[in-house]
Amino acid sequence: MPVSGMPPYDEGNIFARILRGEIPANKVHEDEHALAFHDIAPQAPVHVLVIPKGRYVSLADFSAAASPEAMAGFWRAVGLVARQLGLEGPGYRVLTNMGQDAGQEVPHFHVHILGGRPLGAMLV
Ligand code: IMP
Repeated sequence: MPVSGMPPYDEGNIFARILRGEIPANKVHEDEHALAFHDIAPQAPVHVLVIPKGRYVSLADFSAAASPEAMAGFWRAVGLVARQLGLEGPGYRVLTNMGQDAGQEVPHFHVHILGGRPLGAMLV
């Protein structure tokens, strides 16, 4: 549930639809806390999205409202997925876009795992 000041959660957003199995995703991992799947428009040789199973609009919402168990489970899945993708040796980047200025497109909290090539210094 979004905390005060957050936009309401949109049940029709594309990641909610993926979670409900209404549209397909190229999944790489799923457990009780998280789902990971390949980004449809990859920005690097490896570009995977990890989303929590709960209904959180953004990191602001997730960090304020998720239970410790949900947070731990989500971040554990992020590290596990990167390891399973073989990125731990060469390295990888994890990022999230929060809100308008960051260009967040999908209003269900997600992190991007990017890797498979040197990614350069910073992002902006
Ligand atoms: P954001 O800008 O951080 O919200 O990133 C949203 C990401 O979702 C973008 O990288 C899109 O390419 C990706 N995306 C949008 N629709 C789909 C889909 O149906 N499957 C997988 N990735 C998607």
